[in-house]
Amino acid sequence: MEYEAVIGLEVHVQLKTDSKMFTSVAHKFAEPPNTLTDPVVWALPGVLPVLNFEAIRKTIELGLMFGCKIPEITKWDRKNYFYPDSPKNYQLSQYDQPLCEGGGVEIELPGTNRAEMGAHRVVKLTRIHLEEDVGKLTHFATDSLVDYNRAGTPLMEIVSEPDMHSSEEVFAYMTSLKNTISFAGISDCDMEKGQMRADVNVSVRPVGETKLGVKVEMKNLNSISNVRNCIDYEIRRQIECLKKGIPLVQETRRWDAQLGVTQSMRGKEDAHDYRYFPDPDLMPVKISGELLESIKAGLCEMPFDRQRRYMKDYDLPYSVTSVMSIDRGLSEYFEEAVKTYSKNPKAIANYLINDLLRELGAAASAEASESKSGDGFEDLEGEMTVFGHSSHKERLESCRITPANLAGLVKIIDDGVITKQMAKEVFVEMFATGKTAEAIVEEKGLKQNSDTGELEKFALEAMAANRKAVDQFKAGNDKAINALIGPIMKASKGKANPAMVLDTLKKLIAQG
Ligand code: ADP
Ligand code: MG
Repeated sequence: MEYEAVIGLEVHVQLKTDSKMFTSVAHKFAEPPNTLTDPVVWALPGVLPVLNFEAIRKTIELGLMFGCKIPEITKWDRKNYFYPDSPKNYQLSQYDQPLCEGGGVEIELPGTNRAEMGAHRVVKLTRIHLEEDVGKLTHFATDSLVDYNRAGTPLMEIVSEPDMHSSEEVFAYMTSLKNTISFAGISDCDMEKGQMRADVNVSVRPVGETKLGVKVEMKNLNSISNVRNCIDYEIRRQIECLKKGIPLVQETRRWDAQLGVTQSMRGKEDAHDYRYFPDPDLMPVKISGELLESIKAGLCEMPFDRQRRYMKDYDLPYSVTSVMSIDRGLSEYFEEAVKTYSKNPKAIANYLINDLLRELGAAASAEASESKSGDGFEDLEGEMTVFGHSSHKERLESCRITPANLAGLVKIIDDGVITKQMAKEVFVEMFATGKTAEAIVEEKGLKQNSDTGELEKFALEAMAANRKAVDQFKAGNDKAINALIGPIMKASKGKANPAMVLDTLKKLIAQG
């Protein structure tokens, strides 16, 4: 019998807000343990929670981006459980009236080669709700330490329908979530910092069966490779069990990354185990039409829409758009440059993705990176949509070449003022000094010689010195003309405009 896997994800994403979810204590990373606390975080008797409006706004924003329905009323519930990383003995969450319902996330499964657009589909969402994160425990041989800095920070839970069927789809789904959320500035989604974590639910069923199989849940996976390996292992394990006639039980299993296996932790837990009830200290929240409209007005474009637009409007290759469309810094820089000079977006993208990123990378790392030619899009290979890729925004903001100046460089190449060869030198100077391309060309006397009188003189000299090439060209050997170009470039000290040299030669030869 053939089996298929069915997978649903609950992805927790920490929101980027100034303060915690229910108190004004700062929400920051890497602070000394237990410095970001107050009586609300400690859950002292008598304290009252106050809602963080920014967290609500950002969650609605994401919901709208994913096409979720935003119900008019949303409310807060207590999810009761005891765990030492949560001093309240309950977690404030949303049970039956979440902020966002339905919707979906567009994903891309890789094409057969890297330069090609892959297959796209939408993974259905169940809901997105808002809750508070818990603290962090560190266990030692005989005791454990707790840090409440993370306790009470705003956490979105994005729940998918059981709508994925392989670890590849799950990878694509998490990548799409990360790209969308980080571009919008809702979270950095850095899995290493625990800003994005996934609970993975896996079941298998015979192909053709429509009823869902018994699900197994693996909680709190904190790296994309753990998610991948855990899913692949679990699918294999479940299919093997069924083939051997061993019935599967609904349970929570733990992924052991060292051993590469999942191990049973506990049996099924149901909603009633948590004794959810509405929080008596927080009023339900009414989402006004005005608020929705104002959030809608500020929504940013979805990464795949931006990519399609770049490919269609600017005729940029997939390899470039897949890098540029997911990075806010790169796409803003590019669009700004194209606004200044709209005639050659391809060349602008090329300078940005190859030359500028390379120089920024080299400037950032102490070791000088080996310099590669900046002539094509091929240089990109290493930059492809790597999970964990962080934004270039800050680096680009501190970069001395402004978008307008980069556009200016491309323009003077297009106008024939300097050659591409000279542009390399100009680019390096621009990067170091922040001067415009024009200023550098002026200073260094790099202007191409477009003086036709002088060019004709050099051309006539070259023709006189090599009559054989002239005759061969006349006889129909087009390549023979190349032998004349070199001496002219040399006579002009490399400043002649190659296109003009060719035109002048052809004209003079035709004249006899
Ligand atoms: P629970 O109440 O145990 O949290 P839910 O029905 O709310 O379960 O689903 C939690 C997650 O598990 C969702 O992402 C959902 O898509 C997924 N899921 C539910 N049933 C299955 C199943 N049989 N196989 C795979 N995933 C499932
Ligand atoms: Mg669950």
